[in-house]
Amino acid sequence: MTVAPRPSILAVEPYVGGESKLPGVNRIVKLSSNEGAFGPPPGAVAAITKVATEAHRYPDGGATALREAIGARHGLDPARIVCGNGSDELIALLIMAYGGEGTELIMSAYGFQMYELTGLWAGCRVIKVPERDLTADVDAMLAAVGPRTKLVFLTNPNNPTGTLLPQSEVARLRAGLRDDILLAIDSAYAEYVTDPGYDAGATIVDATDNTVMLRTFSKIYGLGGMRLGWAYASPAIVDVLGRVRGPFNVNAAAAAAGIAALAEPGWVERSVAHNTEWRRRMTEALGAIGLPVRPSEGNFVLVDFRDGDRAARADAHLRSRGLIVRGMKGYGLPRYLRVTIGNAEECEMVIEALTDFVRTDG
Ligand code: PMP
Repeated sequence: MTVAPRPSILAVEPYVGGESKLPGVNRIVKLSSNEGAFGPPPGAVAAITKVATEAHRYPDGGATALREAIGARHGLDPARIVCGNGSDELIALLIMAYGGEGTELIMSAYGFQMYELTGLWAGCRVIKVPERDLTADVDAMLAAVGPRTKLVFLTNPNNPTGTLLPQSEVARLRAGLRDDILLAIDSAYAEYVTDPGYDAGATIVDATDNTVMLRTFSKIYGLGGMRLGWAYASPAIVDVLGRVRGPFNVNAAAAAAGIAALAEPGWVERSVAHNTEWRRRMTEALGAIGLPVRPSEGNFVLVDFRDGDRAARADAHLRSRGLIVRGMKGYGLPRYLRVTIGNAEECEMVIEALTDFVRTDG
């Protein structure tokens, strides 16, 4: 007999990330995890190599230089920034600190899966609120609030749908929540947004005491493998996160890579320009062959195959050409595939493969 964990833990299926291998296929194009299209910034690679000789030293537990660099880049007070081992860790820390048994966590139906998985194992009751046209529905989210609600998570722009909730709606969500409810605005894809009215969350964080903005280096900065995310929050929430995080939760290589990535000249501008261009081209090209694509504000597009079997056949067709995209069955959206915007050649390969699929599948 083995030792039993808390029952809520065995009730949760582990998160499965995008695959990176296909049996028998040599050249893989991985477009399943919304990783940056250009690989890591060269300065970050050099910084990781450089810190390797100091690998016997513990890192700065407060990630001071990194928080200062983030603060300088975004015009934010470094004292109100907490870094983590990916924003996944910060999501888990918030849920452990504020949620748990006897509490409720609210998210929109197609919000980021980790809120649900982490909430469930932590013992929260997770309420997934139906969306309107694949976009978070503020009225429905507010209507779902009960006396035990402690946490509300909003992904904006949303992954996997790519949809954006207007700033006025995010503000209305915050204003409609009680003050003892924490709102986490997860802006993992903030840099890719082209809507001029967009605010990644700092304005609402500054105006309230109970809101957190979550950000990551895994997307625009091409550092998913380093595991680096950050939160911007009120001093009270920063204090709580400081109590629950591990003392060295950001390792030395990740911190050095993050600082170097922020300093890489023109990196964000080039990545955004590429993403905006190819997101538009993919949307138009796939729309033209009868595969509607949601207007996306992220570095990915959600492609509609109209039924789940056809989406599964398209997925198999792409795989036969070494193209790995993300099936959406696990998200409750089986008729869609989510495709990350890769480099130009990779995007062309997807368009060509799907053109061929439509021709042969009918
Ligand atoms: N939030 C959202 C909305 C995401 O899409 C992701 C990555 N898939 C994360 C958080 C986790 O990011 P990280 O790599 O920083 O843990």
